[in-house]
Amino acid sequence: MVPEMLRAELAAVPDLTLLERPEDLDRYSKDAYDYSPVLRERLASCRAALVVRPDTVEAVAAVAAACCRHGIALTLRGAGTGNYGQSVPLEGGVVMLMGRLRAVRRIEATTGVVTVECGCLLKDLDQMLRGHGRQLRLLPSTWRSATIGGFIAGGSGGIGSVRWGFLRDPGHLLGLEVVTMEPEPKRLQLEAAEAEALNHAYGTNGIITALTLATAPAVAWQEMVIDCVDWPSAVELAQRCCGSALDLHLCTVLEADVVAQLPAWDVPETKADRVLLLVAPDAVSTVEQLAADCGAAVVFSEAEQHHAGHGLRELTWNHTTLHLRQHDPDWTYLQMLLPQPELDCLHALKQTWGGDVLIHLEAVRQQGVQRLAALPLVRWRGADALERLMQQCRDLGALIFNPHVLTVEGGGLGVVDGDQVAAKQRLDPAGLLNPGKLGGFSS
Ligand SMILES: Cc1cc2nc3c(=O)[nH]c(=O)nc-3n(C[C@H](O)[C@H](O)[C@H](O)COP(=O)(O)OP(=O)(O)OC[C@H]3O[C@@H](n4cnc5c(N)ncnc54)[C@H](O)[C@@H]3O)c2cc1C
Repeated sequence: MVPEMLRAELAAVPDLTLLERPEDLDRYSKDAYDYSPVLRERLASCRAALVVRPDTVEAVAAVAAACCRHGIALTLRGAGTGNYGQSVPLEGGVVMLMGRLRAVRRIEATTGVVTVECGCLLKDLDQMLRGHGRQLRLLPSTWRSATIGGFIAGGSGGIGSVRWGFLRDPGHLLGLEVVTMEPEPKRLQLEAAEAEALNHAYGTNGIITALTLATAPAVAWQEMVIDCVDWPSAVELAQRCCGSALDLHLCTVLEADVVAQLPAWDVPETKADRVLLLVAPDAVSTVEQLAADCGAAVVFSEAEQHHAGHGLRELTWNHTTLHLRQHDPDWTYLQMLLPQPELDCLHALKQTWGGDVLIHLEAVRQQGVQRLAALPLVRWRGADALERLMQQCRDLGALIFNPHVLTVEGGGLGVVDGDQVAAKQRLDPAGLLNPGKLGGFSS
């Protein structure tokens, strides 16, 4: 319950909509956490008492002020596509929908640097940038539905990570406009160094209202699908592509048993292990040569059309998991950076788990080095089996980013980031923003 006085105060705020129907409270209290059977059980009963939707930064500040005065928890929500329960209100209270703040405020002609409000959809932002000869460097596979604020606060990387690494790498986020969670909220402009503490902090340490981001020159990407003789040779081909002078936007390896459960869309069906690529047009002939060298066959090569959500992008990153779960909801997944040489780790996992662990790899750049991340599909055999699998991965040298936990730290390297905690103490001293998600904070 929210106090009636708070409700009345919020009802009087200009440019603010209150959503109070039970179906709205249910809908906006959940995100895509059902990928994790562990979180599904833990979060089933969490529910907001009130949902609000501001149209302006002034209305955002009025909500922050009112929640502070009444000591009520406030959880921010973009499109709610996060899959670790990031926007689920653990302590109820108010959920604030940020999707109406979506103006592109500025695109700098010489640098392509963009300043955009938090609720702008990545799809719209990317399209707007393309009109200026630019594009987003990094996109989640949910790029059609997710917001830029939610991506920075809750995401990590995705399409583009093969070239541009991860969102927290210095150089992507150049500044933030933030509203503080105080009885008299401040509207702050943070430079890159200060903004970093709010990057991937699940909206626990400040309300982001606008972001300034670096962009890349636009490229008309070409989709390529390559069938390989087995999954180790698919890994080899992906590594060769990444080790060549190619402009890549996406490089995904899928074991045949994964491919078989994906929608075919325009791509020929197969029983083969596959590499999926988005490459610059001038890279196509080199990829064809590299594929031939690996005994692989290019079975699809076309300019990317986006096909209303049926593009190659929507077969990769966490969309791979989504499609397999549509086939069989007993699939869940893991996320990790593989140790090198990657094949040793993958062979060991396949030997232990067989068909219960299916290979899905994404080429990424990690601290300037070309690496392979794994998002293996994992057959759900209970929490103990999941724990054993994660322990084996760690023993093999993999770095796990556990998608079955709720805290920022648990989903990251497991250590408290002092800067994130310090930012929370400064911008949300009463600890009311998304409580329970920043493990290092105690009010
Ligand atoms: C099928 C599928 C595929 C996915 N693929 C990827 C992928 O490739 N890469 C990836 O990184 N993620 C991926 N995700 C996770 C998620 O879709 C992305 O991270 C997405 O960018 C989140 O955006 P959103 O608008 O849905 O944010 P939400 O889920 O609404 O919010 C995410 C977090 O950000 C916080 N937040 C939202 N708005 C603000 C704000 N204005 N200020 C401060 N905090 C805020 C929320 O409180 C929450 O903690 C995937 C998820 C699914 C279901």
